[in-house]
Amino acid sequence: MKPAAFDYFRPSSLEEVLDQLAAGGEGAKLIAGGQSLGPMLNMRLAAPSALIDLNDLTELAYIRDVGETLEIGALTRHCQIADSKLVQARCPVLAEAAQTIGHYVIRQRGTIGGSLAHADPAAQLALIAATLEARIEIVSRGGQRSLPASTFFQSVMATALAPDEMIRCVHFPKADANEGAAFELFSRRHGDYAIVAAAVTVALAGELVARVRVGLSGVGPVPRSFDDVVRGFAGRAADAAWPEQVARALQEAVDPEDDERISALYRKELTQTLVQRALVSALSRARAWSRDEADE
Ligand code: FAD
Repeated sequence: MKPAAFDYFRPSSLEEVLDQLAAGGEGAKLIAGGQSLGPMLNMRLAAPSALIDLNDLTELAYIRDVGETLEIGALTRHCQIADSKLVQARCPVLAEAAQTIGHYVIRQRGTIGGSLAHADPAAQLALIAATLEARIEIVSRGGQRSLPASTFFQSVMATALAPDEMIRCVHFPKADANEGAAFELFSRRHGDYAIVAAAVTVALAGELVARVRVGLSGVGPVPRSFDDVVRGFAGRAADAAWPEQVARALQEAVDPEDDERISALYRKELTQTLVQRALVSALSRARAWSRDEADE
């Protein structure tokens, strides 16, 4: 099938994009990497009256250290995030997750703005945004606002974005110095969307866990942080039993639904396996950091 007819605009400035979004109303749609919208147009799951192409806004493709956070422009491609030395050093779980998105070609074209706006419940970047409570900066002709990920993602493929708004950039908190992090996913085939994915960070204070964060996708309509469940596991010894105890608590806490492909029970078991695996890796990375510090 081919897309239904639409008007096509390729603005060269953000102001022009916002004018066209405001003028186009509900019928106008932005296109960035086209890796989600392209197939939806072809299958006529989307039939916008106008497409506004963001690809000339190259100034929105950037990664900057702005103090407490890394600021990533909306048009930054998945491969740029995965390959960035800055992201690898200051927000390593984001780089690790970006590296697992789809296949090489998809990572070359897909953008962070498109991924968050599309809000697939299994998307890696949405999971990392939810886990770290990233802030999403949104602009429109009427002004700008900044939303935490927990408010931005509302339901399956539904966000807080109004039709005349676009994502300008995303702020990810930088990792603490004593922190290890890890990302784990399970999918049927390499490059498929994850059935369940887990992102974790663990900060150590000597042999004690100072802070733990866990985010999960595939166990509800939106990826979300489970800090409420894991908070009580901070302050304990980071011994061999700890990752399993945290993972078991999460397995009990999640409440996925059966669907035609995957049972809820299977998703719960994946939760336990992936969280435990991620926590073991994160702990070992946090310890490696502590050893490096001691050697200096
Ligand atoms: P587009 O397809 O151009 O747009 C998607 C949506 O976002 C549209 O509604 C568009 O209007 C809106 N939009 C775009 N930019 C903005 C903006 N700045 N502000 C507001 N709205 C905007 N993704 C994963 O996360 N994990 C996977 O494993 C994965 N596997 C894939 C496998 C295949 C075969 C394919 C084709 C895609 C896969 N993807 C996967 C999706 C891919 O990551 C997309 O790149 C991403 O979901 C959308 O980004 P995009 O830049 O291509 O957006």
